[in-house]
Amino acid sequence: MAIQVELLDQTKDPMKSLYIAYRTAYSSLTPMQINKRIESGKITREKMEEFIERRLQTGHGSPLEQVWFEFGIAGVSRSFSHQFVRHRVGISFEQQSQRYVKFKDARFPYTVPQSVQRAGKAEQMEAAFEELGKLYQELLDAGVPAEDARFLLPNAASTNFKITVNFQELLHICDLRLCTRTQWEFRKVAAMMRAEVNRSVPELGMYLQPKCGERRWGYCDEDYEAWEACPIGRKRPHKRDMFKIFDSHRKGELIPLDAADFKLIEREDSGVA
Ligand SMILES: Cc1cc2nc3c(=O)[nH]c(=O)nc-3n(C[C@H](O)[C@H](O)[C@H](O)COP(=O)(O)OP(=O)(O)OC[C@H]3O[C@@H](n4cnc5c(N)ncnc54)[C@H](O)[C@@H]3O)c2cc1C
Repeated sequence: MAIQVELLDQTKDPMKSLYIAYRTAYSSLTPMQINKRIESGKITREKMEEFIERRLQTGHGSPLEQVWFEFGIAGVSRSFSHQFVRHRVGISFEQQSQRYVKFKDARFPYTVPQSVQRAGKAEQMEAAFEELGKLYQELLDAGVPAEDARFLLPNAASTNFKITVNFQELLHICDLRLCTRTQWEFRKVAAMMRAEVNRSVPELGMYLQPKCGERRWGYCDEDYEAWEACPIGRKRPHKRDMFKIFDSHRKGELIPLDAADFKLIEREDSGVA
């Protein structure tokens, strides 16, 4: 079954909402006065974007909780959903129930991973699911409630979600789940959520990156071997290497050329690789 992700609704004007939230923290003006200035055009979109961009470079994250997105997510597996619902802060889930929704006609929708197809085992997997579907139906027909008949259903069985997530948590989910180490299905859903936000609010969508992205931490904290194997690893540094360089700098082995943008050069005798 194909995965579907759709942005159903969102904060009416996310940039305005964020701007008022951040400005309130740093201004003698009331939020109502700030709102009036925006409405009158005194504060332009460009000004708001620039201010928000600077705030996003700091650790001041709580205003991001005031912007929310609602998604419909369909055709995902229970393997995915087990991982998804572990996120518990700033996100609210409604998931299709296997107690109240009975699969009909001895069939249930499911996902066969590409790796199984590549291994030439898809047909066997599908045959096993067909048998499970038949037995599931027999259990229902014998009066077993759906909540018990579902004990037969595999992790591959499909499910649907309606979720609301705030921008702070969506950033966090993308930090973790756009990483190349993430399970493929979760990575796909995270990428599809990002695409939806990008379509609607590109000014915010651009911050939805894996944690090593230049607009997030900028470095990788996964294990070193994983970083070496990662295609993004050719562009983004590993935390261990960054600290090595920092230690060398502290020991005077590296000379800062321009402290403003942390350009460093190696001394000829430093021996730092
Ligand atoms: C690569 C990977 C492998 C994983 N492997 C496993 C595994 O083998 N087994 C397993 O059980 N899980 C595993 N997980 C799931 C993981 O442990 C988390 O449960 C999941 O990523 C949810 O993230 P979160 O804890 O950041 O929760 P979120 O709800 O997304 O929380 C967001 C942030 O809020 C803060 N926060 C949330 N709750 C609290 C709290 N109660 N107290 C204080 N601060 C809080 C934390 O800073 C947290 O990072 C894995 C996750 C990843 C990304």
